[in-house]
Amino acid sequence: MTAFTGHESLDKYRKPHMAAWAGLQYALFRTGPVASNVVEGGLFWYSGDDRSIPDLQFHFLAGASAEDCVAGVTPGRSGITLNCYGLRPKARGTVRLSSADPDHPSLIDPNFMGHPDDLEMTVQGLKTSLEIFAQPALSKYVRKVVLPDDSLRSDDDLRSFVRNHCRTSYHPVGTCRMGSDDKSVVDTHLVLRGFEGLRVCDSSVFLSLIGSNTNAPTAMLAEKASDLISGNVRTR
Ligand SMILES: Cc1cc2nc3c(=O)[nH]c(=O)nc-3n(C[C@H](O)[C@H](O)[C@H](O)COP(=O)(O)OP(=O)(O)OC[C@H]3O[C@@H](n4cnc5c(N)ncnc54)[C@H](O)[C@@H]3O)c2cc1C
Repeated sequence: MTAFTGHESLDKYRKPHMAAWAGLQYALFRTGPVASNVVEGGLFWYSGDDRSIPDLQFHFLAGASAEDCVAGVTPGRSGITLNCYGLRPKARGTVRLSSADPDHPSLIDPNFMGHPDDLEMTVQGLKTSLEIFAQPALSKYVRKVVLPDDSLRSDDDLRSFVRNHCRTSYHPVGTCRMGSDDKSVVDTHLVLRGFEGLRVCDSSVFLSLIGSNTNAPTAMLAEKASDLISGNVRTR
């Protein structure tokens, strides 16, 4: 996250009179900052030259104080955010029962950074973010990088920063894996093994993370599930 020298980002609309103006602009013309989804840009990239497919995803937010629980820039100032995510983590999390009572909450452990390669991949993403902020087209607006601040630039500093600040991008999948092997939870027709007519039709049946956002593939899966249930399946 960076703080800007000026007020080129959406943070300027935090001031009441600017927010009112933005609301009016949207009400009259359906344009302006209210029409933005804030996440204005995205990028897929590689954490190393040996990667054949992207293993990092970046979301560019046109504001620095846009996310809950993430420190922003000093009130009254503006900035931007570049989030990076590891797309192909090697660690696996767990969802376990806390008791035999179904009303008791389950124990969810995402196991973030549970494999050393995941940490290195994320640190590489952070370095790429800093490199992007340093490009002349962007750096002319940047007053300073706020997160991770200037004192954190060694690999160890960045590893520790990731351990302390990393968050999810909300794409957990695969707690109920589909497959034709005995260990899969549902078969390739999404039917829960050992049951008849009980299907699981959501992202929990994915075999692994797809390496991107999960909403569209979940909708595709649901379309397929409706075909399986209604018998509308091509046999060829
Ligand atoms: C904050 C956030 C932002 C996201 N942004 C994006 C994005 O920009 N792009 C993108 O592609 N993906 C995004 N995702 C991910 C995307 O929303 C999910 O991958 C997708 O919704 C998964 O669909 P699903 O059907 O598997 O699960 P869900 O959408 O979670 O649906 C599960 C449903 O089951 C219901 N349910 C749970 N327990 C029970 C029960 N015991 N009985 C009955 N019903 C129950 C829930 O109420 C819910 O309606 C985001 C997720 C979050 C949380």
